[in-house]
Amino acid sequence: MTKKQRYEFVLDWFEHHMPEAETELLYDNAFQLLVAVILSAQCTDKRVNMTTPFIFARYPDAPALAKATFDELFPIIKSISYPNNKTKHLIGMAQMLMERFGGEVPHTVEELVQLPGVGRKTANVITSVIDAQPNMAVDTHVFRVSARIGLTTNAKTVLQAEQQLIKSIPKEKIHITHHWLILHGRYTCVARKPKCEICGLTQACKYYKTMND
Ligand code: SF4
Repeated sequence: MTKKQRYEFVLDWFEHHMPEAETELLYDNAFQLLVAVILSAQCTDKRVNMTTPFIFARYPDAPALAKATFDELFPIIKSISYPNNKTKHLIGMAQMLMERFGGEVPHTVEELVQLPGVGRKTANVITSVIDAQPNMAVDTHVFRVSARIGLTTNAKTVLQAEQQLIKSIPKEKIHITHHWLILHGRYTCVARKPKCEICGLTQACKYYKTMND
């Protein structure tokens, strides 16, 4: 199977079996998504979703969150990983939104990465989720699943994986492929013992071939 055929098979399979893939984070607007994605670093979406309703009720927008104090916000998010840093990042992010971006979430990666707590991965998630920009956020699931299947080859860093994926996936499918790979990694191609016996990608998967040759 050539690389092109592998990509076609995998994207076709996802298209038929996961047509509605989207983020599992709960949000109503770009500001809420940004807060949720910042909180989700090293933390499960489930845990973030248990916390964000309390944040959004008290701080519904950037002006409100920009006025929050550390001591007010910290107790609300203390059950999330790295609560100290994330409290500072959220307040700093909202303050910068007010100072530089008129209180609105910017829609480019270049602007988003200026915000505290926002790296390239977060910026890629925000831009691909809120307006389907062809940006690929490579998290641990995307990195692992792409390597196992053989969508990426010898990618040593997330940036290398991102560049390889973007080169081979049709532009209009990049944003949804991000969700496909995450969901596949979360529920089927899990880290410790991939569930190949229930996976529909075996005939295109390099890892499966190696394990069964
Ligand atoms: S066949 Fe196995 S290793 Fe390959 S994508 Fe499916 S679950 Fe992952």
